[in-house]
Amino acid sequence: MVLDTATLRIAFALMALALGLLFYFSAYRTTRSPYSGWWCLALVFFLSGSAAFLLDGTPHQWWANPLGNVLLVHGGVAVWAGARSLRSMPPPRWAFNGIPLATLVASAVDNPATNVWAGGPVFLAGMSFSIGLASRELWQLEPGYSRVRIPMAAVAAGVSVFYLGRLVAFLLDGQAGSTFVTIFGSEVTTLVTMVMLVVASFSMAALSSEQQTQALRMAATRDDLTGLLNRKAFLDLASEQLAHPPVAKPSGVLILADLDHFKAVNDTYGHAAGDEVLQAFAGACRDTVRSTDLAGRYGGEEFVLFIPGGTADSAERIADAISLRLAQASKADGPQMPTVSYGITTYDAGTAGLEALIASADAALYTAKSLGRNRTARSDRTF
Ligand code: GH3
Ligand code: MG
Ligand code: MG
Repeated sequence: MVLDTATLRIAFALMALALGLLFYFSAYRTTRSPYSGWWCLALVFFLSGSAAFLLDGTPHQWWANPLGNVLLVHGGVAVWAGARSLRSMPPPRWAFNGIPLATLVASAVDNPATNVWAGGPVFLAGMSFSIGLASRELWQLEPGYSRVRIPMAAVAAGVSVFYLGRLVAFLLDGQAGSTFVTIFGSEVTTLVTMVMLVVASFSMAALSSEQQTQALRMAATRDDLTGLLNRKAFLDLASEQLAHPPVAKPSGVLILADLDHFKAVNDTYGHAAGDEVLQAFAGACRDTVRSTDLAGRYGGEEFVLFIPGGTADSAERIADAISLRLAQASKADGPQMPTVSYGITTYDAGTAGLEALIASADAALYTAKSLGRNRTARSDRTF
């Protein structure tokens, strides 16, 4: 069976166009995420670069061939930029512009009117290098970032190694050598990159929908103002933990916190300043508890912490640390931070339910308020 390059390139260009359009409308338009924008751009580069090569063997070859090389390398660089955007880092400018520029110069000075492989080694090295960098970025993402991190990194590594193989065969065997033509020629390359583009587009679409789901979940469980868990999410998670405590931490503590005379902050400095104080308090909680503890906004200026493994003593230290952090968050031109009262209650393996636990912390909080505020009080009941 003889596969001719021109037919394959047309098929490739059409496929890249279809993928680009599908990806643009399904992923980019809905998420506007930088990586999906970069991927659309990469597909446009691959599509137009491959189209430029259709002019090989025509009088236009002298400009179309170098242009094709540059567009394809720019596609590789866009893939790298997309991978880097997942870590919110732009690619360094020297490499972003330098790799296509080096390809352009090498192709332009290598008789592009007669040589279809003008600038070949630089083009092949540029592709291998930029897509190899993309793979490296993807490996460096946190393991829990996405299910498709590994497939995407592996596809990029595969493409990079393939281009490296082409480069080595080109240098050792020459552009007319049998290894280069049969294993790494334009037909095989077009087929391999077609498959890779489909896998990469599919993975990117999966990543995009994963991120949307995550964003929705965040929006449904977080309090808008403070970013802590909202009341419902806190109650759901704490009930779950209370019903199935970890073996290592069968007991723990719940703290209810209420800002003192918070109404006066609003009355003196305005509602916006009151919001800032609530955010500062949430920040103090986040900075003090562990990421495995639960911190939620219970309502208004009341907050709740659920700390598995904690004791009444450790809860008092946590409360003191939070109050200290809040006081330190005062700014010269901002509102005076209020003091805070805390009600502490402990639970163990036999605890009946979250509602009773919160009621007990609330009673302790009431005691703290009535004793003059700015203090912690412990519930006298252990559940
Ligand atoms: P106490 O020491 O007894 O707790 O007094 P307090 O003033 O803190 O308590 P009170 O319940 O009288 O007032 C709570 C205030 O919190 C009233 C309400 O307007 C305000 N508040 C509730 N939610 C928000 C919010 O999201 N933003 C702002 N700025 N204020 C809020
Ligand atoms: Mg209150
Ligand atoms: Mg209050």
